[in-house]
Amino acid sequence: MSARMPVLFVGHGSPLYAIEDNEWSRGFRSLAQLVPRPRVVVVVSAHWYTDGTLITSNERPQTIHDFYGFPPELHEVQYPAPGDLELAVRLRDLIGRGRAELNNQWGLDHGAWSVLRRMYPEADVPVIQLSIDRNLAVPEHFELAKSLRPLRDEMVLIMGSGNVTHNLRDLMFRMQTGDTAVPEWAHRFDERLKEILIAREDKALVQLWPASDDARRSHPMPDHFLPIVYAYAVTDANDSVRFPIEGFDYSASMRAMLFETS
Ligand code: ZN
Repeated sequence: MSARMPVLFVGHGSPLYAIEDNEWSRGFRSLAQLVPRPRVVVVVSAHWYTDGTLITSNERPQTIHDFYGFPPELHEVQYPAPGDLELAVRLRDLIGRGRAELNNQWGLDHGAWSVLRRMYPEADVPVIQLSIDRNLAVPEHFELAKSLRPLRDEMVLIMGSGNVTHNLRDLMFRMQTGDTAVPEWAHRFDERLKEILIAREDKALVQLWPASDDARRSHPMPDHFLPIVYAYAVTDANDSVRFPIEGFDYSASMRAMLFETS
């Protein structure tokens, strides 16, 4: 028996999955059954990509609708989960004063709430977001994220939210032309990442992006890739990984990962 919290990575996909009933939104809902009920969720979302590492410190974080051209009902969604200032301060201290700052200008972006409103529809679990510093290299993100490991012993759920493959331009083109065939580069990158996580190849993970054509094509920008690095970095050799959601939405891998201590 271990009191250690599992760690999640979720492929959030389109903001629409916050309101549509489909295999992905049902997948998000099922994730809540796979983890003990957390005291707080700390989300590392692809959509908070900043200068410096920031931590939401709002007592009542606002719901941010950080997208355009979607139906009005999506813009009306509110996810009124509370924040947790005390834990935000602890997070800042774990990362180190001077390496991270509290911030009350953000709130919850769709990388967090589109998934969390399925997992915890009552919005009764406090949520903190940790931003991704755009100026750090992948190995630096890995080192920074390691400092969050103690939170797993404090009933805190650490959740990365991005996508294993995410090329927005390619995705839009396929959606417009109705081309649902999954491209080879996306398949290959998704498979390679899966192998790395199962074999726990730390070095291969931090060197994966932007080393190959497949990696650069799967992630023209690293924002949707880095949340995987954060999730993995808080695990260790005692954890094994499984994939509660798998599959593609056009060229975007919707693979989710659950790391648990055996
Ligand atoms: Zn996204």
